[in-house]
Amino acid sequence: MEGERPAGRHEMDNAAFLQALAAIENPLRFASRNQFENLQRVRDLENTLARAAGRARDAASSPVFVAKVDAFLALLPAPNEAMSTRVKHFQKCVQLLGEIRDLAEKDSADTPQRSNVKESKAKPVARAKLKKPNPKPHATVEPAATATPKPIKKRSQAPKEVSALGPNTSVQFVKGVGPKTAQAFAFRNIDTIEDLLRFLPRRYENRQTGTPISGLEDGANATVEGEVITKDFRRMRGRRTLDVVIGDDTGHLYLKWFRVPGGTFIERFKKGVVIQASGSVARYRGKLQIVHPETKVLDAISPLVPDGHDGAIIPGYLEVEGVRPATLRAIIERVLSVTDRMEDRLPAQLREKHHFQSLGQCLWNLHQPPADISVDALRDMDTLWHRRLIYEELLMLQLVVLRRKAEASGDPGLAFEPDLSGVDIAKQAFDFDFTDAQSRCLQDIEADLLQPSPMNRLLQGDVGSGKTAVALTAAILAAKAGFQTALMAPTELLAEQHARTALKILPRLGVRVGLLTGKLSAPERRRILEELELGMVDIVIGTHALIQGSVRFKRLGLGIVDEQHRFGVMQRARFLEQGMESTGAVPHMLVMTATPIPRTLALTVYGDLDVSIIDELPPGRTPVLTKKFREAERERVYKQVEAAVEAGQQAYVVLPLVEESDKEGMENIRDATSTHDELQHGLLHHLKLGLLHGKMGTDEKDRVMRAFSAGQLDVLVATTVIEVGIDVPNASVMVIEHAERFGLSQLHQLRGRVGRGAAESSCLLIARSTQSEDAWRRLAIMEETTDGFKIAEEDLEIRGPGDFVGTRQSGLPVLSIANLARDQKILLLARDDAREILERDPDLLEDDHRGVRASLDAVWQDRLSLAKIG
Ligand code: ADP
Ligand code: MG
Repeated sequence: MEGERPAGRHEMDNAAFLQALAAIENPLRFASRNQFENLQRVRDLENTLARAAGRARDAASSPVFVAKVDAFLALLPAPNEAMSTRVKHFQKCVQLLGEIRDLAEKDSADTPQRSNVKESKAKPVARAKLKKPNPKPHATVEPAATATPKPIKKRSQAPKEVSALGPNTSVQFVKGVGPKTAQAFAFRNIDTIEDLLRFLPRRYENRQTGTPISGLEDGANATVEGEVITKDFRRMRGRRTLDVVIGDDTGHLYLKWFRVPGGTFIERFKKGVVIQASGSVARYRGKLQIVHPETKVLDAISPLVPDGHDGAIIPGYLEVEGVRPATLRAIIERVLSVTDRMEDRLPAQLREKHHFQSLGQCLWNLHQPPADISVDALRDMDTLWHRRLIYEELLMLQLVVLRRKAEASGDPGLAFEPDLSGVDIAKQAFDFDFTDAQSRCLQDIEADLLQPSPMNRLLQGDVGSGKTAVALTAAILAAKAGFQTALMAPTELLAEQHARTALKILPRLGVRVGLLTGKLSAPERRRILEELELGMVDIVIGTHALIQGSVRFKRLGLGIVDEQHRFGVMQRARFLEQGMESTGAVPHMLVMTATPIPRTLALTVYGDLDVSIIDELPPGRTPVLTKKFREAERERVYKQVEAAVEAGQQAYVVLPLVEESDKEGMENIRDATSTHDELQHGLLHHLKLGLLHGKMGTDEKDRVMRAFSAGQLDVLVATTVIEVGIDVPNASVMVIEHAERFGLSQLHQLRGRVGRGAAESSCLLIARSTQSEDAWRRLAIMEETTDGFKIAEEDLEIRGPGDFVGTRQSGLPVLSIANLARDQKILLLARDDAREILERDPDLLEDDHRGVRASLDAVWQDRLSLAKIG
């Protein structure tokens, strides 16, 4: 019975139902005495029970009971059945009847005053939710009883009752919602009527397309959807049979298997799960049934069948456990009129500008779309009603981000006064000319550094586009102005690589460089810490060791973070602290990333960062030739590796990380270790192979990397640990096994490891394409373009924003309806509008802005507090 909570509870109706139950129970109980000794004495028990059950069905106060009674009816033996069969059936009937009575009695008793026991079983969070007083202060029309929640016992006519409800009224006061249903809603974060109204349909179906069960005809081939009501699995003389009853709001259908498929087949028929069944319908003993139907589990979404709904388009909601879909629809329908009373927080001026309807109208239409609207548009969330909600959400997001940015710019910063310009520094420091893109980015940064408000800038550019060169120039500017710079890299290897580059250039410009990693000996470490504190080092390059408590600066003016997405928010915050400690001001921050973040994402995730993009590679690079191969062509791929090695080059072979949990049923996934062994003893047996993966110790990894760097290894077989890796210009071939398992952006990052030297380079993607032709086609994008931004846009489209940045660190806000990948255009609109609003009314004091301000205070600050950067 778990999970089947009757949705409606009417005490009076329930009494009638209980009474009707008694009319079934009494004859059955009599017949059942002493192992059904009396069965022969009761005339026509089947029909008596069927009639009584029919009356109980009529008296049922909730659809759950209707379904139960139907299940009871289904259990009744057919007329003229053998005695032993009758007994078996009646035993089941007794059992089911007991369950129904328990349920009905519980339901009657289940008033809030007496529900303590049951409530204490609920998860604490849900309980807190039910108990908490109305959280939103600006109630419109509230029933007087709000302060002490009590269900309205006497139900008057629906319209009258609805008029007492407001958006902030607890859902408990809606007709048909008892404490149990309210609790079920609470698990979906639905506490108030407004929450309920904002619980939008996930799919829509044309009334004409769904076949209601009652409309099924004998002999027809049909596909229907229904909820599993009962399941009866038996083993008989080695045979396994299964009977499942599914139902929609119009009737029941019997699914029958005389032989049950093995495996987990039976498990799919959990009570309440929505199943799609297809097959040839037959009427058997008055019941509709399909023998050996094709079945499919639909994802916890309500069955879509006409249920007396007024519109021709039927909404399908996400499942609320314990509430029948039809009941859910009925409850929502009941509160639709409350939409009139919802406060519309979108400024009227913007509503007019975009021709949006009011919030209430939009919600109403989304729950009950007019018959003439396109179902496709509804499904794609491409109606004006959807767009308004999406727009509103994104507008709020942009307002928060822009306001936060405005706040940050009010922090005390450091206006550098260097005695050299960035251009001059770059000329003196490097033996090449900056690309136009580099120069542009350097200008952005220089302008920021000269301002008294702290810089907060993201420097984006493909691997090898010259970010480090730009960043080092900024560091020299800081040194020339008398400030220290801390440059933080994600790995020791990278830190050392940066330090090497810096040591080649900076000392001749009179800039002192230090290295601080976890590998330093105690005396070395002590020395560098002292030098930093005394100001004897201008630029310190290091790893996380840089932001430890013991590190103190004399005058930290600039923090540079390489490969930003590997760092958490807290770590960056620590940089700011160190700066404040040493200068009393917020240091400038420059964040470098090679992850090409699509513009729309940058607007939100890094909305309070300014962005500079290096969108051009230094001249003279040979583009990496990319080609995809099928598994069967592996040998050809490794022939190319061989050829490259013979020509004095080196190669990488990259494998996806295979999680333990992934392994089941995926024996065919290659991992780094076994591939290394296989290649070493097979295709590449005459070459020197190295192995690198995340489970190796840091020292061992270092050793392998260095050996590869020094040319002592021909081929490096690795997991993605090399993604943020070291520069080995002599490596010209990148083989990626199971390429279909990588995101495009990640493939692009990996590809960036080659093509750094003079030799022609190639990236060879091997895909196990049999599973997914889509994945195979997707790889074609890699062949077509080397533009990281284009690839990122594609990735965003395909995989959604979550994949760009580790979810924990991404600071991505929780969006309820907007989708950053899908809604890029709306986001740009919202961005412009938000900017305009804040220019005119930075503190949102105008009357027309009161609504958004309230929203920001109530919801958004919370939602985004975790997303704060720096
Ligand atoms: P990133 O940090 O973006 O990966 P780097 O700054 O490390 O790129 O540059 C990659 C390589 O290209 C380095 O060897 C660097 O010296 C060189 N480089 C950078 N800018 C230029 C340029 N404008 N012209 C020629 N080579 C450059
Ligand atoms: Mg770099």
